[in-house]
Amino acid sequence: MGVAAVLAILIHGPRISWRIKAVSPHSGERLGWCAMRMPVASYTSAADGSMAVTSVSPELEVLLGYSRSEWVSSVDVWSRIIVPADRERVQAERLHHLETSERFLTEYRARTSEGHELWLREEAIVVYDALRPGLWVHGVLVDISDLKRAEEALRHQALHDQLTSLPNRILVLDRLEQALRTARRTGKPVALLLMDLDRFKDVNNTFGHASGDLLLRQVVEQLRCVLRESDTIGRLGGDEFAILLPGVDARGAELTARKLLNVLRRPFEVEGHLIDIGGSVGIVLYPEHGHDANTLLQRADVAMYVAKRAASGLAMYEPDRDPYTPGRLVLVRELRRAIEIDQLVLHYQPKASLETGATEHLEALVRWNHPHRGEMPPEAFVSLAENAGLIKSLGFWVLNTALRQCHAWRTSGHEVSVAVNLSPRTLHDPELVETIAEMLARWRVDPGWLEMEITESALMDDPESAMQTLTRLHSMGLCIAVDDFGTGYSSLSYLTRLPADQIKIDKSFVLDMAENDDSAFIVRSVIDLGHNLGLDVVAEGVENQKTWDMLAGMGCDFAQGFHLSRPLAASDVSRWLNHASPPTSCTA
Ligand code: C2E
Ligand code: CA
Ligand code: CA
Repeated sequence: MGVAAVLAILIHGPRISWRIKAVSPHSGERLGWCAMRMPVASYTSAADGSMAVTSVSPELEVLLGYSRSEWVSSVDVWSRIIVPADRERVQAERLHHLETSERFLTEYRARTSEGHELWLREEAIVVYDALRPGLWVHGVLVDISDLKRAEEALRHQALHDQLTSLPNRILVLDRLEQALRTARRTGKPVALLLMDLDRFKDVNNTFGHASGDLLLRQVVEQLRCVLRESDTIGRLGGDEFAILLPGVDARGAELTARKLLNVLRRPFEVEGHLIDIGGSVGIVLYPEHGHDANTLLQRADVAMYVAKRAASGLAMYEPDRDPYTPGRLVLVRELRRAIEIDQLVLHYQPKASLETGATEHLEALVRWNHPHRGEMPPEAFVSLAENAGLIKSLGFWVLNTALRQCHAWRTSGHEVSVAVNLSPRTLHDPELVETIAEMLARWRVDPGWLEMEITESALMDDPESAMQTLTRLHSMGLCIAVDDFGTGYSSLSYLTRLPADQIKIDKSFVLDMAENDDSAFIVRSVIDLGHNLGLDVVAEGVENQKTWDMLAGMGCDFAQGFHLSRPLAASDVSRWLNHASPPTSCTA
C-alpha cells in the first residue's frame, strides 16, 4: 500500500483525500485541479490464483453491498464484482503481481450487489504473516467514482465548445488523427469539410452577441440533423465548423456539403427576427489532398476561402489555387519580384457603343510575362496574389500603370477612358480611396476617365463596406461597373442603393445567346433591369455579328468581345483606334 494511502487512512479514517488534475491530451497543459475525499476499504486474500478472500474491513461490506460471509464463502467473488470488460485484464495483472511480488496498482469498474457501477482503484502487496504463516495479499480499495466523474467533466470541458457542446479544435484534430489511422489500415477514404458562415459578423453587429449565440445554437442543431452518427461536427471557433466524414469519398463529401448548405439557405428565426445566413464549405480528401491532420485542415481552409471568394458555396481543394504548396511558394516569390521589376503587362480590350460604334473605353487586363512559363493569364496568378497577400501591390501596380497609359493616350490625342478590375481585397483596402486620388493627381487623369469594375460576387462578400468605398469613389467622379453580372446573388434593393453607373452582363450568358433562348432571355431581362435602374448595360463576350445584332436590337448600350477586338498590347491600341472600323449593326 502506498505510504500516502496509509497516512490518509490513519488521518481521515475510511476516507482518503485526493487532489486530481486534468491534463490536455495534446499539449499536456494543466486544465484544472480539484480535491475530493473518497471512501476506502481493505481486504486480505490468499496469495494464489484463486485470490480467495479471508477477511474484509466493514467499509468493504458497505462499499459493495456484500456481507463478510459472502466475501469469504464465495468461490469466485472477484468475477461477480469486476465488470466483464475489465475482468480479464485485472486477472492477468494480478497473476503477474503474484509471480513477481511487485506492488499491485490498478483501476477497474466494479458492480455492487444492487447492480450500481463503481470505479475502484486497488493497491495491494504480498506480505508474510507470522501469525497465519504463509503469504497473503493485503489490498486497499478506493472508490474513485467521483474522481472519474470529475476527470470526465474536466476532460469534456477541455475538449468541447461551451456554447454548442460540440467538439472543439483539439478534439476534432484528435478524431481526425484517429480516422486517418483507421483509413490507413482499411484503405478507405476520409473527407474533411470546413464550413464558415457568411454574414455572421453582421448578425452579431446588428442584433448583438446574445442573438448571435442563439443563432449559432440553432444552426448547429439543424446541421446535426443532416449528418450521420459516425460523422463528427466540431466548432473550431467563431463561426467556423469542421465536419469529419470517415469512409466518405469526393461524391459523398460534395453531397453532404450541399445538404449542409441547404440547411443554411433557409432563414433562421432568432428573437422574432428572420435572419438569412449562408455558408462556404471547403472540402479535402484523404489520401488525395494530404496524409496528416494538420495538412488536411490547412488545405480545407484554402478550399474554403476559394469557395467564399467565388461565392460558389463549396469548393474542393485544388493544389493550383493553394499558395502554400512548395511549387506555389516559388511562384509567390517570383510574382512578388515580377511586380517590382515590371514583368507584368496590361493588355487593353476596347468596348464599343452599340448605337454609334464609338470606342472610347478600354478595359485593362493584366498578364504576366513569366521568364520560363511564357505569358500567363490572370486566372493563373490573381487568386494566388490574393491568397499570398500580394493583391494590394498587384492592384496598385495595375491602377498606376493603367492611369499612366491613359495619360499617354490622352496626350497623343485619344480621348479614351480606362477600366480597371478590382479584386475584393483591394476594394476593402482602407488606403484604396486615397491612393487612387494620389495616382489621378500624379498622372493628371480626370476621375471621369477611370472606371472601376467590381464583380457582383465581390460586392456581396461584405456589401456594406463595399457600399461605403464605392460611394466615396463615385463621389470623386469615377465610373463604377458591376462586372460578371448574373453570376452573384446581389439583391435588387442593394443594387438600387449602389452608386453604380454600369452593369456588365457576364459572358457566360452572352457567348451562347445566339443559339440558346434561355441565355437570350436572361440577357434581355438584365438589359431591361439595368435600364429601369438607370444604368448603362454592357455585354461582354460578344464573339460574332449575330450576337452583336441581337444586342443592338435589345437596346444594350455597349459591347465588348473578340468580335470587336481581342485584348491588345498597349503599343497596338493607338493603331487600332486610328484604323478600326467597329462592326455596324443592321438594326442600329
Ligand atoms: P473579366 O473582367 O470578366 O474580363 C473579361 C475576360 O474575358 C478577359 O479574360 C477577356 O480576355 C475575356 N474575353 C473578352 N472578350 C471575350 C470573348 O469574346 N470571348 C471570350 N471567350 N472571352 C472574352 P482575361 O484577360 O483572361 O481575364 C480574366 C479575368 O481575370 C477577368 O475577367 C478579371 O476578372 C480578371 N482580371 C484581369 N485583369 C485583372 C486585374 O488587373 N486585376 C484583377 N483583380 N483581376 C483581373
Ligand atoms: Ca472586367
Ligand atoms: Ca466579366
